[in-house]
Amino acid sequence: MTKPTIPSELRRQVSEDARARCGYCHTSARTIGEPMVIDHLVPTARGGLTVRENLWLACRRCNEFKGTLVEAADPQTGMMVPLFNPRTQSWSVHFTWSPSGTEIIGLTASGRATVIALRLNNPEIVAARTLWVQVGWHPPKE
Ligand SMILES: [Zn+2]
Repeated sequence: MTKPTIPSELRRQVSEDARARCGYCHTSARTIGEPMVIDHLVPTARGGLTVRENLWLACRRCNEFKGTLVEAADPQTGMMVPLFNPRTQSWSVHFTWSPSGTEIIGLTASGRATVIALRLNNPEIVAARTLWVQVGWHPPKE
């Protein structure tokens, strides 16, 4: 499937809205040295539109794991719940950092489901966060 072209002005607005970091794992483009991608909160495959209200930034990994998902199972209850929406919901209500600063802990059903579905604590990113913590780049203050 062909991804819709996103006009550069819209891309700039979304990047500003998202403060140039992934809406899910809060990894910043600056830390990883790779541009973020535009995430359709409701995927185009499900009828999501390419409009500011439906767009946010994500890192490539979160975006790939999210795919066309809009919901996932809460590991605590097994119930299907909506994924976290970084445009309309507050990250700190749904997630927190582990005391080591290297893992994301889901605080709500949507937070827990999103941690699992998007593999927010995959071994590679946890290894990278361990280094970022050592040099004081992580976790983000907010
Ligand atoms: Zn991410």
